[in-house]
Amino acid sequence: MHRRIIVPGALGAASLVLAIPASAAAPSPGAPGIGDPYYPAYGNGGYDVSHYDLRLKYQPATDRLEGTATILARTTADLSRFNLDFLLDVGEVRVNGAKASFAASGEQELEITPAKPLAKGAALTVVVRYSGVPSSKEAFGFTSWHRTPDGGVAANEPEAAAWWFPANDHPRDKATYDVSVQVPDGTQAISNGTLQSTSSRLGWTRWNWRSDKPQATYLATLAVGRFDLTTGTTESGIPVVNAYSKDLGADDGAARASVERTGEVADWLTGYFGPYPYNALGGYVPNTDTGYALETQTRPFYSPRQFAGGSNVSVVVHELAHQWYGDLVSVRGWKDIWINEGFARYAQWLWSEHEGEGTAQELADYTYASHPADDPFWTVRPGDPGPENQFDAAVYDRGALAVQALRNEIGDEDFFTVLKGWPARYAHGNASVADFQRYAEEVSGKPLAALFDTWLFQPSKPATPAARTASRAPASDTPAQPRSWRRITATNDVHEH
Ligand SMILES: [Zn+2]
Repeated sequence: MHRRIIVPGALGAASLVLAIPASAAAPSPGAPGIGDPYYPAYGNGGYDVSHYDLRLKYQPATDRLEGTATILARTTADLSRFNLDFLLDVGEVRVNGAKASFAASGEQELEITPAKPLAKGAALTVVVRYSGVPSSKEAFGFTSWHRTPDGGVAANEPEAAAWWFPANDHPRDKATYDVSVQVPDGTQAISNGTLQSTSSRLGWTRWNWRSDKPQATYLATLAVGRFDLTTGTTESGIPVVNAYSKDLGADDGAARASVERTGEVADWLTGYFGPYPYNALGGYVPNTDTGYALETQTRPFYSPRQFAGGSNVSVVVHELAHQWYGDLVSVRGWKDIWINEGFARYAQWLWSEHEGEGTAQELADYTYASHPADDPFWTVRPGDPGPENQFDAAVYDRGALAVQALRNEIGDEDFFTVLKGWPARYAHGNASVADFQRYAEEVSGKPLAALFDTWLFQPSKPATPAARTASRAPASDTPAQPRSWRRITATNDVHEH
């Protein structure tokens, strides 16, 4: 504890001078955003969270969520007040034990004014008591809470947290979590990490989940509904917990035939990305009418629609690849989305090669050839696509092309060293596209600015011979469609509002 002691006025002016040097900055409000130009209101300034303890109760019949969030943080500035991002109705806020005043502002801001200003570098405990109906809340014109016939689900990118817990909602502020949720007996509450325990009392069952490694707020998930759980252990010893809605209907078999391969896929990915970084694994398929999947940490979310055309291990590969590329190493700002999606898509290409359904090179050739120069596809810049194109298919497909271009430029040995070394280099932290370029240059000893500029930043189709670094085929050839193509393309329906 390094909390600065504020000396009461009764001790006299001399003591006050000692406690608060004249040079100290006057406490001021923390910024309402963390400073991401794509999403100026996301996250907040003035503090850094280390842990969220969420003790909740949810009633599926009414979609009412209530509970207490205890947030452990440290101030990074002298603060007169600070913000959390949150949408539900707040009943009480305490800061370091004392009642604080609070007010809602903007689209999703909860402004908290502690009884006394907070000194920079001090430990901070914030307790927020709240309740509300998440499906009734909108921010920026949409809701990230998916109501299901048997409950609700929080899973979206870049934001979902504000619908179920108050947070510093930006990947740059990661924290550990304890998520404890009480639901009616016969209903399950699914979240990230390990299931520590369950207990039942008076018709309610409490589910206690723990994420003991840093986790970005958008990677925290909650799903309540009637689920069938399966458990197992990977060959490398990681416990697996999967959950399937009991109402998946005709998609049930294909969903299980895909997600039950989670352990196998995660073990396979370690060969490319290094050791699996967490102590839990799994996936869950709620009965939502959404179309996308999301790499929620340790336990990805899959829409049933991902399995409507039959089993789809490729989407499992994509979401599990994110456990290294996106979750372990997260974007520094949302413009760095290529670090996540270019590599998760490339992992699908590697899986295709593993399955004998087309090599990464064949997929690169086909991707390049299937978009003519005047296709708007090439106007999307994966290295800085803008918030409106953050999840455009080009970020994925052109993004993976860029990865193949890098591979062909530096050769397999250095490429696979980069692929495995990157997650270790920035483990549990954040990094940018520029950081990735620097790292690849460091490993390969080659200048790569031109290659990165061509494939990630130019709003046009790279011409041959630049294209040769990604596509070895002559531009006039029309390569055959790899067998994995349609399945991989189907996973493009990944994020939506
Ligand atoms: Zn993805």
